[in-house]
Amino acid sequence: MTAMLQPRFAAKVHQHAVAPHRRYFFERAAETMPRERLERLQLRRLRASLKNACEHVPLHRARMDAAGARPQDVRSLADLQRLPFTQKTDLRDAYPFGLLARPRERLARLHASSGTTGKPTVVGYTARDIATWAGLMARSLACAGARPGDLIHNAYGYGLFTGGLGAHYGAEALGATVVPMSGGQTERQVALLADFGARVLCATPSYALNIAEVAEREGVDLRQGALEIGIFGAEPWSEALRRELEARLGLKAMDVYGLSEIMGPGVAVECEAQDGLHGWEDHFLFEIIDPDSGQPVPEGQPGELVITTLSKQALPMIRYRTRDITRAASAPCACGRTHLRLQRITGRNDDMLIIRGVNVYPSQIEAVLVGLPGLAPHYQLVVERRGSLDELTVEVEAAGDDALAYPEIEARVKHHIKSLIGVSAAVVAKRPGEVPRSQGKAVRVRDLRPKTP
Ligand SMILES: [Zn+2]
Repeated sequence: MTAMLQPRFAAKVHQHAVAPHRRYFFERAAETMPRERLERLQLRRLRASLKNACEHVPLHRARMDAAGARPQDVRSLADLQRLPFTQKTDLRDAYPFGLLARPRERLARLHASSGTTGKPTVVGYTARDIATWAGLMARSLACAGARPGDLIHNAYGYGLFTGGLGAHYGAEALGATVVPMSGGQTERQVALLADFGARVLCATPSYALNIAEVAEREGVDLRQGALEIGIFGAEPWSEALRRELEARLGLKAMDVYGLSEIMGPGVAVECEAQDGLHGWEDHFLFEIIDPDSGQPVPEGQPGELVITTLSKQALPMIRYRTRDITRAASAPCACGRTHLRLQRITGRNDDMLIIRGVNVYPSQIEAVLVGLPGLAPHYQLVVERRGSLDELTVEVEAAGDDALAYPEIEARVKHHIKSLIGVSAAVVAKRPGEVPRSQGKAVRVRDLRPKTP
């Protein structure tokens, strides 16, 4: 068995209660359920969830009526396509509690995401919803390589953001020891990572990079410590940043996906195969649609991810349009899990920039920048309008102080962006430390274009 593990893993001394065995499942029966049974379970839960939504949420009832659909008429998963979509604006319009299927007094918790414009998006959970979420997050942590008995350092922000408490409850449900750090105080995080010997780090990828940088500056080599697994999410990130984080922190970097409107973190996660994220189909129905026509795309084709919740009490969602672009594959995975795999989400429709007719996601720029010699892996994109054209300026950070080298760096980055992405961007090299560091969710784009009403 040891021979099958990566040398870095095999060389370490494990102190956890369960060996980091390839075939550990938090909920084996659910995770490896034959697809036929899984789909029967989905249909049963779908009908119950639609009934819950229609009986308790006026908006869902009105939309279903308008579509001529009743929960009891849903006889197969294919009938899903006849049901109406829900989107983020529905949550904003129903601010704060209009989409809840339970009275506020029956809720155990509220979370909210701050919108860049207008009202925040408010989501609610019953005690059972919190327990379901903890179970799915525990399943996700285990799928990514965490084990009962592990020390899990949780650097996701605690508070209204779902990341911190989502990972926290999941880690406890798994049977791990949680260090509830939240974001910020990075020097202290580095010291505690080293002193306590966490095996697992949960953080946004941009904040994990901040931790790596501060550790190097403080002379703490986290690669020599107990860290083995990074569970990074809440931001789109690139394969290039994955390799960078793996090299600088000495861990295996795993992608976890979720959104508060659906639950929070733990909707989907990578397994050791790192070949897509398993979406937990016993609790969610996943569809990939053409964002323009709303029609499903053939399996394997890219499109917008749409999610229907199957077990949520307080906030059932019917065909929620995530704006995230991905592909899905239902072929069996080497890990033994039967749940579909979503390709790593590299961008959200809302994040996409259109620069002179070329679609660009910030993560594509990141993939070009990370690892280029002479650069630190920090950047910001500035979008401005000159006349009728949108102009992109990429602010990069030089690894060194020698300003005489900056013109060469700028020309090289400009050339790489043009040749790899096909977009012309201005490039400005900043001195070390001048690009703002992530304290949680990174600000990748400064959009200076006039706001259109
Ligand atoms: Zn797998």
